[in-house]
Amino acid sequence: MLFCPVCKEEGINGKVALKLHVYEQHGMGEVFRCEDCSFQTPSKTAFTRHADACPATVAANKFRCPHCDKVFKSKAGLNLHVKLHVGGQGVRKASIEISILLEII
Ligand SMILES: [Zn+2]
Ligand SMILES: [Zn+2]
Ligand SMILES: [Zn+2]
Repeated sequence: MLFCPVCKEEGINGKVALKLHVYEQHGMGEVFRCEDCSFQTPSKTAFTRHADACPATVAANKFRCPHCDKVFKSKAGLNLHVKLHVGGQGVRKASIEISILLEII
């Protein structure tokens, strides 16, 4: 258990909870800020979640596929899509290998 260095409140369960407490109760501490909008949070998890779905980031077309220029609402969506490009090539190669094998047989 941790205690708040500002108000000396005790029983704070973990560093993240302490950060949240200091930020919410006293308005200070380490803060993650979104580059594209006014969103800010002391929680890295919450920030990552926001960064994936920030409307301003989406408006700036930040999640654009480098292979086909398709634009995505979230980083997770783009990552999945990019895997299709990479995975697709793998599948094609595998099927070519299989057809060569069939010719030999
Ligand atoms: Zn406090
Ligand atoms: Zn944002
Ligand atoms: Zn693509």
